[in-house]
Amino acid sequence: MKITGLQCAILGNHPILRISTDEGISGYSQIEASKADYIKSHVLFYESRILGQDPTDVERVMQRIRRLASFKPWGSAVSAIEMALWDIAGKAAGLPVYKLLGGKVRDRVRCYNGNIRFHMDGHEPQHFAESMAKMKDRPEKFSIIKQGIAFHSPMPAQIPDFFYGEPTDQPQHPNRGMLTPKGFKHIMACIEAMLEVCGDDVELALDCGPGFVVPDAIRLAKAVESMNVAWLEDMLTGDYVPYVLADNYREVTQSTSTRIHTGEQLYLRQNFVELIEGRCLDIVGPDPCDVGGIAELKWIAEYADLHGILMAPHGTLDGLLGLAALVQVGATMPTNYIAFEYPTGNPEWWYDIVDGLPDPIVVDSHVAVLERPGIGVDFRIEEAKKYLSEADKGFFD
Ligand SMILES: [Mg+2]
Repeated sequence: MKITGLQCAILGNHPILRISTDEGISGYSQIEASKADYIKSHVLFYESRILGQDPTDVERVMQRIRRLASFKPWGSAVSAIEMALWDIAGKAAGLPVYKLLGGKVRDRVRCYNGNIRFHMDGHEPQHFAESMAKMKDRPEKFSIIKQGIAFHSPMPAQIPDFFYGEPTDQPQHPNRGMLTPKGFKHIMACIEAMLEVCGDDVELALDCGPGFVVPDAIRLAKAVESMNVAWLEDMLTGDYVPYVLADNYREVTQSTSTRIHTGEQLYLRQNFVELIEGRCLDIVGPDPCDVGGIAELKWIAEYADLHGILMAPHGTLDGLLGLAALVQVGATMPTNYIAFEYPTGNPEWWYDIVDGLPDPIVVDSHVAVLERPGIGVDFRIEEAKKYLSEADKGFFD
């Protein structure tokens, strides 16, 4: 089998990829919506480098392009190509991708909610409590719910004198600095308000940064030690930070019993070596669509497990193909696996153009393993075509 084409289209809010072959099998994958305005040219950069290759030799194709990418957002195109290759390899073999990754070790894959969030009128404790009540009320009955606080929220710009720095409301969380006493108390009050709602039924995960300085990170981690906090995520570095700072993470992690989580912006297993070997974190959270793909994610899970570190992958934001990929790889990960961040379809018609997902998708915070050949979902092509823009019209032809 040979690769004959690589395309990228925007479907609703989602960039989607298609790799075509000379045997009529196509592989599909997806990239997070926030990258839609620039990702097409990233993807097409790789086309000439993979044309003519056998897509079922996934690793051999990846070796041609893996060096030509980097940390978020530059690793997304390569990661999405990897997942589309697995989709083809599975379809060609007549097997779900989890079989090709080593087979399943669980029948249901746990997920957590970090994406189904509700509008908040402000960022005071009562707003966090109200929002948490709605998230807890969801029919999916998520066992872990993640909320953004501190530098991973509008607090630095909205709460007066929150930190010793000049607040900016630019995207991708650029604020950083030492917290003021008011800022620290505000964070604690919001956490306590949410925990009140969570009770013992739901564990609270907190996406915190990037932006904390090391002493503040240690102080917050110690302050929540006796509480139902699943983890503190990306305190020092995170989203769109193109480096690791393993020593700083080690200092935080080894000074507290609160679980410290990071890794969503990192590209490739090599960039986890220092974090994992140095026991610089408790939970590693790569995003399959930034780290280099699902086989890369599985390798990191196994390496982390050898070192006593847990795995909770970041969710390829709001996409059903991303969801399917997370379920496939989630089925195969070792027992250090906790849960993946649950992605949704957006707009709502995404649920009408994809076949293969159970209904309801999530039961008791778990998704049953998808058994179709390939990544586990297929487009209803005639339905999906209706939503292509004029520029992407021939995508499915
Ligand atoms: Mg995060």
